[in-house]
Amino acid sequence: MKSEFPDKKEIIPQKLARESKFKFKCHPGIACFTKCCSDINLILTPYDILRMKKRLNISSEAFLAKYTRPQTLEKIGLPVVTLKMMDDDSKSCPFVTPKGCTIYPDRPATCRYYPIGFATLKEENITTKDEFFFFVKEDHCLGFEEDQEWTVQSWREDQEPELYDRMNRDWTEVLIKKQSLGAVETSEKSLQLFFMVSYDIDRFRRFVFQSPFLKKYQTPSDLVEEIREDDDALMLFGLHWLKTTLFGLAPAKPAASEKSL
Ligand code: SF4
Ligand code: SF4
Repeated sequence: MKSEFPDKKEIIPQKLARESKFKFKCHPGIACFTKCCSDINLILTPYDILRMKKRLNISSEAFLAKYTRPQTLEKIGLPVVTLKMMDDDSKSCPFVTPKGCTIYPDRPATCRYYPIGFATLKEENITTKDEFFFFVKEDHCLGFEEDQEWTVQSWREDQEPELYDRMNRDWTEVLIKKQSLGAVETSEKSLQLFFMVSYDIDRFRRFVFQSPFLKKYQTPSDLVEEIREDDDALMLFGLHWLKTTLFGLAPAKPAASEKSL
Protein backbone atom coordinates (compact mmCIF):
# COMPACT_ATOMS: atom_id res chain seq x y z
CA MET A 1 0.00 0.00 0.00
CA LYS A 2 1.38 3.40 -0.94
CA SER A 3 1.52 5.99 1.81
CA GLU A 4 -1.56 8.22 1.98
CA PHE A 5 0.87 11.12 2.00
CA PRO A 6 2.21 11.90 -1.48
CA ASP A 7 5.98 11.98 -1.71
CA LYS A 8 6.51 15.36 -3.32
CA LYS A 9 9.20 17.85 -2.49
CA GLU A 10 8.92 21.45 -3.44
CA ILE A 11 11.90 23.80 -3.43
CA ILE A 12 10.63 27.25 -2.50
CA PRO A 13 12.44 29.76 -4.77
CA GLN A 14 13.44 32.18 -2.07
CA LYS A 15 16.99 32.79 -0.92
CA LEU A 16 17.31 32.76 2.84
CA ALA A 17 20.13 34.13 4.96
CA ARG A 18 21.17 32.84 8.37
CA GLU A 19 19.04 35.54 10.04
CA SER A 20 15.90 34.79 7.96
CA LYS A 21 12.93 33.83 10.11
CA PHE A 22 10.41 31.03 9.61
CA LYS A 23 7.88 29.03 11.61
CA PHE A 24 8.20 25.28 11.95
CA LYS A 25 7.73 22.57 14.55
CA CYS A 26 8.03 18.82 14.29
CA HIS A 27 6.68 16.93 17.30
CA PRO A 28 4.94 13.65 18.23
CA GLY A 29 1.53 15.35 18.48
CA ILE A 30 1.43 16.47 14.84
CA ALA A 31 -0.80 14.51 12.42
CA CYS A 32 2.03 13.86 9.96
CA PHE A 33 4.47 12.61 12.62
CA THR A 34 6.97 10.11 11.06
CA LYS A 35 5.16 10.16 7.69
CA CYS A 36 8.30 11.63 6.16
CA CYS A 37 10.27 8.56 7.27
CA SER A 38 9.11 6.13 4.58
CA ASP A 39 9.54 5.52 0.87
CA ILE A 40 12.44 7.94 0.53
CA ASN A 41 15.62 7.91 -1.51
CA LEU A 42 18.02 8.94 1.24
CA ILE A 43 21.63 9.08 0.05
CA LEU A 44 24.03 8.45 2.92
CA THR A 45 27.27 10.35 3.44
CA PRO A 46 30.48 8.89 4.91
CA TYR A 47 29.90 10.55 8.28
CA ASP A 48 26.28 9.29 8.38
CA ILE A 49 27.56 5.72 8.23
CA LEU A 50 30.21 6.33 10.85
CA ARG A 51 27.66 7.71 13.32
CA MET A 52 25.03 5.05 12.69
CA LYS A 53 27.33 2.02 12.75
CA LYS A 54 28.84 3.31 16.01
CA ARG A 55 25.41 3.76 17.53
CA LEU A 56 24.36 0.26 16.47
CA ASN A 57 27.74 -1.14 17.54
CA ILE A 58 28.29 -3.03 14.30
CA SER A 59 30.99 -3.02 11.64
CA SER A 60 30.76 -0.91 8.53
CA GLU A 61 30.51 -4.12 6.47
CA ALA A 62 27.53 -5.28 8.55
CA PHE A 63 25.88 -1.87 8.33
CA LEU A 64 26.28 -1.72 4.56
CA ALA A 65 24.91 -5.25 4.11
CA LYS A 66 21.88 -4.77 6.36
CA TYR A 67 20.84 -1.16 5.94
CA THR A 68 21.92 0.11 2.53
CA ARG A 69 21.35 -0.25 -1.19
CA PRO A 70 23.98 0.67 -3.78
CA GLN A 71 23.23 3.36 -6.32
CA THR A 72 25.27 5.21 -8.95
CA LEU A 73 24.88 8.96 -8.92
CA GLU A 74 23.49 10.07 -12.26
CA LYS A 75 25.72 12.50 -14.22
CA ILE A 76 28.56 12.00 -11.71
CA GLY A 77 29.02 8.29 -12.13
CA LEU A 78 30.19 7.68 -8.56
CA PRO A 79 28.86 4.85 -6.39
CA VAL A 80 26.87 5.85 -3.30
CA VAL A 81 24.52 4.04 -0.95
CA THR A 82 20.98 4.86 0.10
CA LEU A 83 19.26 3.88 3.32
CA LYS A 84 17.32 0.69 2.60
CA MET A 85 13.63 1.08 3.34
CA MET A 86 11.70 -1.90 4.74
CA ASP A 87 10.74 -4.51 2.16
CA ASP A 88 7.07 -4.60 3.24
CA ASP A 89 4.09 -2.44 2.21
CA SER A 90 5.06 0.30 4.66
CA LYS A 91 8.40 0.96 2.89
CA SER A 92 9.38 2.68 6.10
CA CYS A 93 12.84 3.55 7.33
CA PRO A 94 14.22 0.70 9.46
CA PHE A 95 14.75 3.14 12.33
CA VAL A 96 11.29 4.64 12.60
CA THR A 97 8.71 3.63 15.21
CA PRO A 98 5.37 5.24 16.12
CA LYS A 99 7.31 7.12 18.81
CA GLY A 100 9.79 8.56 16.32
CA CYS A 101 13.34 7.94 15.19
CA THR A 102 15.19 5.36 17.29
CA ILE A 103 18.61 6.71 16.25
CA TYR A 104 17.65 10.37 16.49
CA PRO A 105 20.96 11.70 17.95
CA ASP A 106 22.81 9.96 15.09
CA ARG A 107 20.28 10.41 12.28
CA PRO A 108 21.73 11.10 8.81
CA ALA A 109 22.52 14.59 7.51
CA THR A 110 19.50 14.61 5.18
CA CYS A 111 17.16 14.13 8.15
CA ARG A 112 18.84 17.11 9.87
CA TYR A 113 18.66 19.55 6.96
CA TYR A 114 14.92 19.39 6.33
CA PRO A 115 13.20 21.85 5.83
CA ILE A 116 16.22 24.08 5.11
CA GLY A 117 18.35 23.33 2.07
CA PHE A 118 21.86 24.73 1.71
CA ALA A 119 23.77 25.77 -1.40
CA THR A 120 26.85 27.70 -2.47
CA LEU A 121 27.33 29.79 -5.60
CA LYS A 122 30.96 28.84 -6.23
CA GLU A 123 32.33 25.36 -5.82
CA GLU A 124 35.51 26.68 -4.17
CA ASN A 125 33.53 28.30 -1.36
CA ILE A 126 31.88 25.26 0.11
CA THR A 127 31.30 26.61 3.59
CA THR A 128 31.71 30.36 3.57
CA LYS A 129 30.85 33.62 1.79
CA ASP A 130 28.63 32.58 -1.10
CA GLU A 131 26.36 30.30 0.89
CA PHE A 132 22.62 30.62 0.94
CA PHE A 133 19.65 28.64 2.18
CA PHE A 134 16.20 27.81 0.87
CA PHE A 135 13.06 26.00 1.98
CA VAL A 136 12.35 22.45 0.97
CA LYS A 137 8.71 21.62 1.59
CA GLU A 138 7.10 18.22 1.39
CA ASP A 139 3.38 18.15 0.52
CA HIS A 140 2.48 16.15 3.58
CA CYS A 141 4.49 18.20 6.07
CA LEU A 142 2.33 20.13 8.52
CA GLY A 143 5.29 21.51 10.47
CA PHE A 144 5.07 24.86 8.66
CA GLU A 145 1.61 25.44 10.16
CA GLU A 146 2.97 25.33 13.71
CA ASP A 147 3.84 28.41 15.70
CA GLN A 148 7.46 27.95 16.78
CA GLU A 149 9.70 30.62 15.33
CA TRP A 150 13.28 30.03 14.21
CA THR A 151 16.00 31.77 12.31
CA VAL A 152 17.92 29.65 9.81
CA GLN A 153 20.89 29.93 12.18
CA SER A 154 19.00 28.82 15.31
CA TRP A 155 17.47 25.92 13.35
CA ARG A 156 20.90 24.78 12.19
CA GLU A 157 22.30 25.05 15.70
CA ASP A 158 19.43 22.89 16.92
CA GLN A 159 19.83 20.23 14.21
CA GLU A 160 23.66 20.25 14.06
CA PRO A 161 24.24 19.89 10.32
CA GLU A 162 27.43 21.99 10.57
CA LEU A 163 29.44 19.12 12.03
CA TYR A 164 28.22 16.83 9.24
CA ASP A 165 29.10 19.49 6.63
CA ARG A 166 32.62 19.76 8.03
CA MET A 167 33.21 16.04 8.31
CA ASN A 168 31.93 15.40 4.77
CA ARG A 169 33.55 18.44 3.18
CA ASP A 170 36.27 16.70 1.14
CA TRP A 171 33.74 14.10 -0.05
CA THR A 172 31.29 16.81 -1.09
CA GLU A 173 34.03 18.62 -2.97
CA VAL A 174 34.83 15.45 -4.92
CA LEU A 175 31.16 15.10 -5.89
CA ILE A 176 30.87 18.75 -6.94
CA LYS A 177 34.09 18.58 -8.95
CA LYS A 178 33.01 15.38 -10.69
CA GLN A 179 29.68 16.97 -11.54
CA SER A 180 31.37 20.04 -12.99
CA LEU A 181 33.59 17.85 -15.20
CA GLY A 182 30.63 16.10 -16.81
CA ALA A 183 30.98 12.63 -18.28
CA VAL A 184 34.67 11.99 -17.54
CA GLU A 185 35.33 8.30 -17.14
CA THR A 186 36.70 7.04 -13.81
CA SER A 187 38.59 3.75 -13.68
CA GLU A 188 36.97 0.74 -12.00
CA LYS A 189 39.77 0.66 -9.42
CA SER A 190 39.21 4.32 -8.52
CA LEU A 191 35.47 3.69 -8.15
CA GLN A 192 36.15 0.77 -5.81
CA LEU A 193 38.55 2.87 -3.73
CA PHE A 194 36.04 5.72 -3.64
CA PHE A 195 33.38 3.37 -2.30
CA MET A 196 35.63 1.74 0.30
CA VAL A 197 36.99 5.01 1.66
CA SER A 198 33.58 6.70 1.62
CA TYR A 199 31.57 3.97 3.28
CA ASP A 200 33.52 0.97 4.52
CA ILE A 201 35.77 2.39 7.21
CA ASP A 202 36.69 -0.98 8.76
CA ARG A 203 37.86 -2.37 5.44
CA PHE A 204 39.71 0.89 4.73
CA ARG A 205 41.57 0.55 8.06
CA ARG A 206 42.72 -2.96 7.07
CA PHE A 207 43.71 -1.60 3.66
CA VAL A 208 45.79 1.16 5.25
CA PHE A 209 47.51 -0.98 7.89
CA GLN A 210 47.88 -4.28 6.05
CA SER A 211 49.26 -2.98 2.76
CA PRO A 212 52.24 -0.77 1.71
CA PHE A 213 49.83 2.23 1.75
CA LEU A 214 51.48 4.10 4.65
CA LYS A 215 54.98 3.70 3.22
CA LYS A 216 53.84 4.76 -0.23
CA TYR A 217 52.18 7.95 1.03
CA GLN A 218 54.71 8.71 3.79
CA THR A 219 52.23 9.42 6.53
CA PRO A 220 53.57 11.22 9.66
CA SER A 221 53.86 8.87 12.65
CA ASP A 222 51.55 10.92 14.93
CA LEU A 223 48.83 10.79 12.27
CA VAL A 224 49.35 7.04 11.86
CA GLU A 225 48.71 6.57 15.57
CA GLU A 226 45.61 8.79 15.41
CA ILE A 227 44.00 6.93 12.52
CA ARG A 228 44.85 3.51 13.94
CA GLU A 229 42.12 3.78 16.60
CA ASP A 230 39.96 6.76 15.77
CA ASP A 231 37.29 6.23 13.07
CA ASP A 232 36.62 9.96 12.65
CA ALA A 233 40.31 10.73 12.08
CA LEU A 234 40.63 7.78 9.69
CA MET A 235 37.60 8.92 7.71
CA LEU A 236 38.93 12.49 7.40
CA PHE A 237 42.34 11.13 6.41
CA GLY A 238 40.76 8.85 3.81
CA LEU A 239 38.49 11.50 2.31
CA HIS A 240 41.38 13.94 2.09
CA TRP A 241 43.43 11.26 0.32
CA LEU A 242 40.53 10.62 -2.06
CA LYS A 243 40.23 14.28 -2.87
CA THR A 244 43.89 15.17 -3.27
CA THR A 245 45.49 11.97 -4.54
CA LEU A 246 42.83 9.90 -6.23
CA PHE A 247 40.89 12.81 -7.76
CA GLY A 248 43.75 15.35 -7.87
CA LEU A 249 41.97 18.28 -6.20
CA ALA A 250 43.97 20.92 -4.35
CA PRO A 251 44.32 20.40 -0.59
CA ALA A 252 42.31 22.85 1.48
CA LYS A 253 43.22 22.07 5.09
CA PRO A 254 45.03 19.38 7.05
CA ALA A 255 42.75 16.36 7.13
CA ALA A 256 42.68 14.83 10.59
CA SER A 257 42.12 17.99 12.59
CA GLU A 258 39.02 19.33 10.85
CA LYS A 259 36.56 18.05 13.44
CA SER A 260 37.94 20.49 15.94
CA LEU A 261 37.70 23.54 13.66
S1 SF4 B 1 16.86 7.94 10.16
FE1 SF4 B 1 15.31 8.62 11.62
S2 SF4 B 1 14.74 10.68 10.96
FE2 SF4 B 1 15.80 9.70 9.25
S3 SF4 B 1 14.22 8.76 7.98
FE3 SF4 B 1 14.90 7.19 9.43
S4 SF4 B 1 13.53 7.36 11.19
FE4 SF4 B 1 13.30 9.24 9.98
S1 SF4 C 1 6.31 15.64 7.83
FE1 SF4 C 1 7.28 17.51 8.67
S2 SF4 C 1 6.26 17.93 10.65
FE2 SF4 C 1 5.66 15.87 9.96
S3 SF4 C 1 7.08 14.52 11.03
FE3 SF4 C 1 8.02 14.95 9.03
S4 SF4 C 1 9.30 16.78 9.32
FE4 SF4 C 1 7.95 16.59 11.11
